[in-house]
Amino acid sequence: MHHFSYHGSSLHCEEVDLAEIAGLYGTPTYVYSAATITDNVTRLQRSLADLDLQVCYAMKANSSLAVLRLFANLGTGFDLVSGGEIRRVLAAGANIRSSVFAGVGKTEEEIELALQEGVYAFHVESEPELARINHVAGRLGLTARIAIRINPDVDAKTHAKITTGKSDNKFGIPMSVAAEAYGAAAKLPNIKVAGVQMHIGSQLTSVGPFREAVEKVVPFVAQLQREHALEYFSIGGGIGIIYEDALASGQADWWERFSEDERPLTPELYGAVLSPLLQPLGLKILLEPGRFLIGNAGVMLSRVEYLKRGANKNFLVIDAAMNDLARPSMYDSYHEIVPVERDTSRAAMVADVVGPICESGDCFAKGRELQSVGEGELVAFLSAGAYGFTMASNYNTRGRPAEVLVRGSAFELVHERESFERQIAGEKIPGFLA
Ligand SMILES: *Cc1c(COP(=O)(O)O)cnc(C)c1O
Repeated sequence: MHHFSYHGSSLHCEEVDLAEIAGLYGTPTYVYSAATITDNVTRLQRSLADLDLQVCYAMKANSSLAVLRLFANLGTGFDLVSGGEIRRVLAAGANIRSSVFAGVGKTEEEIELALQEGVYAFHVESEPELARINHVAGRLGLTARIAIRINPDVDAKTHAKITTGKSDNKFGIPMSVAAEAYGAAAKLPNIKVAGVQMHIGSQLTSVGPFREAVEKVVPFVAQLQREHALEYFSIGGGIGIIYEDALASGQADWWERFSEDERPLTPELYGAVLSPLLQPLGLKILLEPGRFLIGNAGVMLSRVEYLKRGANKNFLVIDAAMNDLARPSMYDSYHEIVPVERDTSRAAMVADVVGPICESGDCFAKGRELQSVGEGELVAFLSAGAYGFTMASNYNTRGRPAEVLVRGSAFELVHERESFERQIAGEKIPGFLA
């Protein structure tokens, strides 16, 4: 459920008319709903209330400072994947003491920063990484808490670029050699074995693969608990969201149309299935969702530049492009596109919705049916809160979009549109060309 809906004919984010935001700050612009983020966090926490739970928001999904501050205020930690992300959390006025540092390629500098800032734990992906963390911790006279990422070899049945829990992925180490790796870790003087970690993939819309992975790894965790004083078990992120019917999924009754077996994954089902499997361990449980917490809490606004009528095809050319929202070109992913001003008296049209970039891949939707819209009118891309702005680039020397945060009837520009001057600020013409 989310807080984007039509008030009369105008699409609103909470109490704010999206047309007003576009008028003030231009397009393309991302708009985030604080109420939706808050609901997502509290629903997830409530559905796992039987557990000693720490949610670590996977901030690679959306790392806007304002968004990070909101998460910190809601009591989440962060799943961090770079030194830059650590510094973003600090810049947002939060700390990383309940956060975890993940990723396959941590550098010495990043490990040092994480240790100095008191990160809760490192999620280790390989034995050489373990040796490096031990070395850096030793140099600083500190002890590093670690969990090794286990690859449970479960097929998450999601897009190939976002599945991570199969044995042929680059992530984690196989369960068969994990005991040995933990044995080796425990012998290192500046390492404290504190947990077990897994993450099987992203955008999972059924609970089955989560259940299968947890059932597979729990006995290993229980066995490890006998040898080490474990503190936690991290079951990763990956809870999926609704893309296909995003607008309607904002209403509670949309969910009730489905029988319990057919309903897309909800935090309630996730909790009901996993909580009884996890409770007997008596450990703290870490969750690292990104997309679920922020995905349906954001839209991208864009203005129509041209409606180009072809011989047998219409092209709706808009002012957003693949550099602003990369998911459709990168993962063939679907975003529902709706008019900001709804006019039910207009006929529908079928069009390819495309951006201005010189690439055939700069296409958001092929043969999409939507309300007829023309030059100057606004459209909104729904479910664009996760992996939207954070994947934006400057391709074609386009400044990255503006970002706005809404709460109730209040809203603020939280990230100004990137100017041309900012884009070229670090560049120079070398002396030998002058
Ligand atoms: C990306 C990632 C997540 C978050 O994935 P979502 O699908 O956004 O929930 C969590 N943990 C790890 C290790 C990740 O790489």
